[in-house]
Amino acid sequence: MKSAEIRDAYLKFFESKGHTIVPSSSLIPGNDPTLLFTNAGMVQFKDVFLGADKRPYTRAVSSQRCVRAGGKHNDLENVGYTARHHTFFEMLGNFSFGDYFKRDAILYAWEFLTSKDWLNIPGEKLWVTVYASDDEAYDIWQKEVGVPADRIIRIGDNKGAPYASDNFWAMGDTGPCGPCTEIFYDHGADIWGGPPGSPEEDGDRYIEIWNNVFMQFNRTPDGVLHNLPAPSVDTGMGLERISAVMQHVHSNYEIDLFQHLLAAAAEATGTQDTENKSLRVIADHIRSCAFLVSDGVTPSNEGRGYVLRRIIRRAIRHGNQLGQKKPFFHTLVKALAEVMGEAYPELVKNRAHIERVLLQEEEQFEKTLDKGMLVLEEALAKLQGKVIPGQVAFTLHDTYGFPLDLTNDIARERDLTIDNEGYEKAMDEQRNRARAAGAFKVDYTAAGLDFSATEFLGYNSLAETGKIIALLKGGA
Ligand code: ATP
Ligand code: MG
Ligand code: MG
Ligand code: MG
Repeated sequence: MKSAEIRDAYLKFFESKGHTIVPSSSLIPGNDPTLLFTNAGMVQFKDVFLGADKRPYTRAVSSQRCVRAGGKHNDLENVGYTARHHTFFEMLGNFSFGDYFKRDAILYAWEFLTSKDWLNIPGEKLWVTVYASDDEAYDIWQKEVGVPADRIIRIGDNKGAPYASDNFWAMGDTGPCGPCTEIFYDHGADIWGGPPGSPEEDGDRYIEIWNNVFMQFNRTPDGVLHNLPAPSVDTGMGLERISAVMQHVHSNYEIDLFQHLLAAAAEATGTQDTENKSLRVIADHIRSCAFLVSDGVTPSNEGRGYVLRRIIRRAIRHGNQLGQKKPFFHTLVKALAEVMGEAYPELVKNRAHIERVLLQEEEQFEKTLDKGMLVLEEALAKLQGKVIPGQVAFTLHDTYGFPLDLTNDIARERDLTIDNEGYEKAMDEQRNRARAAGAFKVDYTAAGLDFSATEFLGYNSLAETGKIIALLKGGA
């Protein structure tokens, strides 16, 4: 099954169970300052769970575009290192707003995965986890579904605090949350990894495909859990992970959707080996970057714009490593629109704009990337031990526009680390110098603006310039 067919099958299955199909919302959460990006299907329904918003339906199903590159759920560092993590992915989800609860959620999930009419996955390949004290969910899996006890794992409060474990899902530090039950697929003994809850669970053998959350609580900023108006259900299954299962491949990067992107990235960077790690990173990053720009984010030095800038620059550096010194990243938008444009027409509509924004960032970083790499290589040649001095990382950031995580990415490839404390210290010293040199100036940092790398690169967007002018005039 192609990923597009799996997406359709999922929506149809839950539609046949009385769910209303709701389109994906933007990556920029509406009216939610607590959240950087939409990181799950439930985000657009947050207020419905809380009882603050009513919809004409009590059951919904969606395929939601998600980005996990900052905040509570951050997978940026995982990309290129695991078979299952992306910065951008699609989350298939079914939702009950005070309608069905544990039993139906579990029975639906099992039917969709294993029924001959739907995905027809052999039940023996599936493992499940439940929240440690959730006997109700345990019994449904064992007695009603018939999963043998040796493939049902209770995940406890392993971090000490009651609800800090992996089987208690939360969107962020505050908001809707609850215990969950997760379904894993065993990719086979020839792949390294152990079952969930074991020390080797982070390997690529047992891959988590679907999380079913029993939404019961709202966590307020004081950390207290309050009951939601009605017990509800929120689920999420990664489209790329279930596609890998259905296409009998063991890595998300081998599914249909990624093949086209990898081929385009190989061509754009003049690389033959499509299993190259840098190509995978580039193929991942073009999706998050293009969708973020399409949803209205532009590269900048603060907040969402800075996350976007960091992802773009990471991708450019990987291209550079493959020998491509000229702007190439923006050319991949075409391939992306080819594979995802049908499901997301806005990608086709906004293509020229996305290409322009990415190209501009490429041209800007091109001016300093090579010089920065030279500075880094010189420092590495002199390096004794395995820790890159904080001052080097700071200079790369301050003078050459290398976000810290980009330098970290390079360090990790070479089995080195960065002295983060030294980096912070250099950053503080620079702030103090700037303050001493211009006590009369406005402190942009205090206003949430960080221009620490802007001096010669001229990053300021029009919006930022507008904010500065307002600040200088004494306005907000
Ligand atoms: P993992 O433990 O593998 O990091 P998770 O527990 O953080 O996943 P959830 O928050 O439970 O993930 O999200 C629900 C589902 O979304 C997961 O079961 C998985 O199928 C998918 N998913 C989560 N993060 C990613 C990602 N970074 N890339 C692709 N799919 C993802
Ligand atoms: Mg995760
Ligand atoms: Mg998990
Ligand atoms: Mg999970």
